[in-house]
Amino acid sequence: MERFLSKCAEYIYQKHQKNLQNLCIVFPNRRSGVFFTSYLQKQISGAVIGPKTITVNELFSDFSPFHSGDKLQLISILYEVFKKHTKTIETFDEFYFWGEILLADFNDVDRYLVNAQDMFRNIADIKEIDSLFDYLTPEQKMALEHFWGSVAVSNNKEFQKKYINVWDKLFPVYAEFKTILAEKKLAYGGMSDRWVVERLENGDFEFDAEKYYIVGLNALNACEKKFFKSLQGCGKADFLWDFDRFYLEDEKNEAGGFMRENLTRFPSPDDFLFDDHFFLRKKNIKLVAVSSVYGQAQEIPHFLKETQPDFQPQFDNTAIVLADESLLFSALGAIPEETGTVNITMGYPVKNSVVYGFLMLMVNLLKNRRKDVENNTVVYHRFVTDILNHQLLNGIASEKSKEFVANLKFNNKITVVLKEINFSTIHQQIFSPPEKVVDYSTYFLDVLGSIYAWVKQEDAGNKMLLELIFSIYNAIEKLKVVVQDVAKEQSREISPAVYFRLFNQYLGQVSVAFEGEPLSGTQVMGILETRCLDFENLIILGLNENKWPRTFTSPSFIPHNIRKGFGLPGIDEQDAMYSYYFYRLIQRAKNVTATYSVVKEGINTGELSRYGFQLLYDSNQSPKLVNLDFSFANDPVPEIQIQSSEKSVQEYLSRISKDHPLSPSAINVYFMCSLRFYFRYFMHLPEPEEVKDEIDSPIFGNIFHETIEALYKPFVGKVLEKGDLENMQKDRILLENEIRKAIAKHYFKEKDSARKPVKLEGKTLLIFENIKTFLKQLLKIDAEIAPFSVESLEDDYKTELPVVLNGMPQKIWIGGKIDRVDRVNSKLRILDYKTGNVDSLSFKNLDELFEKDQKKHKKEILQALIYTHVLSKNKTNERDFQPVIYSLRKFFDETYSPEISWGKQGFSFQEIEPEFLEHLQVLVQEILSPKNVFSQTPHLEKCQYCPYNKICQRY
Ligand code: SF4
Repeated sequence: MERFLSKCAEYIYQKHQKNLQNLCIVFPNRRSGVFFTSYLQKQISGAVIGPKTITVNELFSDFSPFHSGDKLQLISILYEVFKKHTKTIETFDEFYFWGEILLADFNDVDRYLVNAQDMFRNIADIKEIDSLFDYLTPEQKMALEHFWGSVAVSNNKEFQKKYINVWDKLFPVYAEFKTILAEKKLAYGGMSDRWVVERLENGDFEFDAEKYYIVGLNALNACEKKFFKSLQGCGKADFLWDFDRFYLEDEKNEAGGFMRENLTRFPSPDDFLFDDHFFLRKKNIKLVAVSSVYGQAQEIPHFLKETQPDFQPQFDNTAIVLADESLLFSALGAIPEETGTVNITMGYPVKNSVVYGFLMLMVNLLKNRRKDVENNTVVYHRFVTDILNHQLLNGIASEKSKEFVANLKFNNKITVVLKEINFSTIHQQIFSPPEKVVDYSTYFLDVLGSIYAWVKQEDAGNKMLLELIFSIYNAIEKLKVVVQDVAKEQSREISPAVYFRLFNQYLGQVSVAFEGEPLSGTQVMGILETRCLDFENLIILGLNENKWPRTFTSPSFIPHNIRKGFGLPGIDEQDAMYSYYFYRLIQRAKNVTATYSVVKEGINTGELSRYGFQLLYDSNQSPKLVNLDFSFANDPVPEIQIQSSEKSVQEYLSRISKDHPLSPSAINVYFMCSLRFYFRYFMHLPEPEEVKDEIDSPIFGNIFHETIEALYKPFVGKVLEKGDLENMQKDRILLENEIRKAIAKHYFKEKDSARKPVKLEGKTLLIFENIKTFLKQLLKIDAEIAPFSVESLEDDYKTELPVVLNGMPQKIWIGGKIDRVDRVNSKLRILDYKTGNVDSLSFKNLDELFEKDQKKHKKEILQALIYTHVLSKNKTNERDFQPVIYSLRKFFDETYSPEISWGKQGFSFQEIEPEFLEHLQVLVQEILSPKNVFSQTPHLEKCQYCPYNKICQRY
């Protein structure tokens, strides 16, 4: 295969064998220069001084007297100028975002040699356009007319006024900004390039090389065109372009757009001939749809296996191109060892790294810290646990860290006092955030320094991690200097918001150049690194519509039509550029596999890039389509069924005793899902505990129960009169105190809840008010049936249930805590408070209560009847039992009645008790049978809050 750079090397060598040292070869990037030099060396025999190889950016900066200004420094100067001309009252922070856009716009204005005074002109009369801009094409003039015409007829006069007011000031701002920068010998890129080409016109420069070869460029900006025109004019430049007739001759194909213009303006030498019909030959192209983003990397081993006959270990044979750079680590992990040397010739954006993720957690800590009443620095618990659980801190005081997190959960601590986290020097550094913005960089640097030292000592082989930390450290050091300089020179204290924005930008620009030996082995690279390079075997990962081409364009203050009118680049030009990169890259390749992810997430549309479709429908290549789009989520998850056994039953039975009876709640779990019962009661699987930011329903229930118990306790064994209940209802202090104490005990887990009043805010305050409302209503309902006597509150009741297990009669303890037993007239009421939803207080028959796998099981009624049975066994002298449910959610219904009914009727528990007992015995025998099979509920909605739903892969 004849590679483009190899052909260029051969051509140039043939022409300049004797005077290579007098040449300057200009490339789009450094990498292409390195490859070129390697090809050139193959041509040369003996010791020869080679030509100068530079990038197009270096070509300009060689002639410029300016230093490239730092963005913060430039925007700071721009702010002063903008303020002076527009009289804005915006602060620097508020301006910073606009400043970035304006700076990018000025950069474009200069790179495209736009007459800024014309562009920032307010065209009140659009007829003027023809006379004012005779140098523009009719199409450009039309774009301007379109814009100014629509401004003139705009209905939004206020906006129109404001917009024109700023627009009118932009030229003076631009002009003065550049004057100030020039005085300071500073410039942004476009300003520097424009200065160079303007001096060229005056003949101020001498070109020192005898000949310039412009190699493999594509989209040229106006400065580049002018510069090259000068070179061409004095006979000092030759242009070597790379293309294929497939896209060059197809006017509709955007890939050839720039090239068609380049060849007209700067034709290649007539004797520079190469094969430009590569697309006529059939390639092995495969487009692979993959159902996960990172799963795309798994195509690499298949590709390498398939292309084995064409594989060579040389540097320009095989490349893995990452259109999605975040796939680097998965790609590296997927390359088989036998592939040999792998050279990463791309910068890996540190933004995708674990270290960056960790720093973002520190940023969250900084942003969200505050002072408590005792002046301690505190933060919401998640900001601490996220850091403590981060993989970078693995192995650093891990035990203490785990213990600390467990304690937070146990004590439901919402906020954490940072100085308490002092398990190691690194922990101390992380959790001592600085007060002043100017110290933020030092804070990050200290932590990174300590982590670097720790990794070096404990995991020295982890070179990639060390490299990442090192690169990020350097970037933050640079930021530190800039922030300090701006603070010193321009007396400007920057705000946390601007600091974090800069922090993101600085780190966003940092790429770790994972570079081994660029001239050996399989290459892994990003899109831009592929410019001018050719490979026989290519695998492209991430050929998705928003990845290649990139669909993001920078924001601009200059309206689209004005940009168009003055020839500034937009999304069309960006698309054409990426299109060229794609076609040029594959034009000489023999085997090409491109994967794309079908996952739709955020801006990812899950679509194949337009280039894939063009190859399919618009070329002679007929790529093969492979669909690995099977969704894991739709795979049938294996059903879980567990056969009980003698051993597990015996183990469970050994845990049932008078003190730990089989409870009605356990029976209800069995009805909800027998597998859940098995996990919880047979296997004793712990249920994960989380810090509760809000009061969940069990805690709400506990607080309610606790409060009502405290209020009624003085009346146990006594008669409660209507007046007692009305007095309680009116006693705000009593009610509120008891609720506060219950919240302290059950939510804040205070051991001595009476000791210190808890501070209620947000959700806890809301719950406090809610409970007060329900309590008052309960007291009102009770006052209506008063007088009644309180027999017991929250007392344990249990009885032995006779059953037959394995043919042997046995007795099983059943029972639990009954919320309240009271006596109204002659009836003993067994009362259950329910804070959750209770669907119905009536049942059709007993079969209904014991039927399994129902969508809505009447668990509250079954529970109340079990308690009634247990109580009847404890109070054998009593005859009249009434199970009742105090359902809080029905408290305010007009027809509220707490009594459980059989159909629409009341019923006598004694009459149904024998049949009820039989049902209960059969149920308990089933639960305790070694032949029983515990299986998953068929009702998926019950799995939503089940603590075991990860095991079942449900939710
Ligand atoms: S996730 Fe569903 S099926 Fe599994 S144990 Fe929980 S409730 Fe049962």
